[in-house]
Amino acid sequence: MSATKSDIVTGGCNCGAVRFEGVLSERGIGVCHCKMCRRAASGPFMAARMTGGITVTEPRGLKWWQSSDWGRRGFCGECGSTLFWGSPDPTSTDWAISAGALDIDPDREIFEHIFADCAAPYYRFADTAPRLSEAETIAKFAPASGADGESQ
Ligand SMILES: [Zn+2]
Ligand SMILES: [Zn+2]
Repeated sequence: MSATKSDIVTGGCNCGAVRFEGVLSERGIGVCHCKMCRRAASGPFMAARMTGGITVTEPRGLKWWQSSDWGRRGFCGECGSTLFWGSPDPTSTDWAISAGALDIDPDREIFEHIFADCAAPYYRFADTAPRLSEAETIAKFAPASGADGESQ
């Protein structure tokens, strides 16, 4: 099944040095409360996913920082916008995308919170999606080796 034009969403950083597009997953928005995400973006990282990966249409500003054995973070080296979280495998484009980087706010609900017990005490979400603790998140997503309680 090929994507139709209307399935394709576009996004990018604040300055335009990174642009991307893809087919938005039906799954909804995942929210990560880990300290690394909050340090990068001041608040939780709210992640959308593309079905079939992302096409980077303007890569000029895209930089990656390997943040752990099991993840790396993509951002714009020119304006600093937080953009992606992905596996260290450079052939994979199944990245979590900063929902805020999409050009149009997607019509999706939050489906899950991860690292929920790492949230700061000064905010609350009103949704009723499942809250996975740090231990539950690592048990669900981390590779068998290499995760020792570090956040992603
Ligand atoms: Zn930029
Ligand atoms: Zn995180």
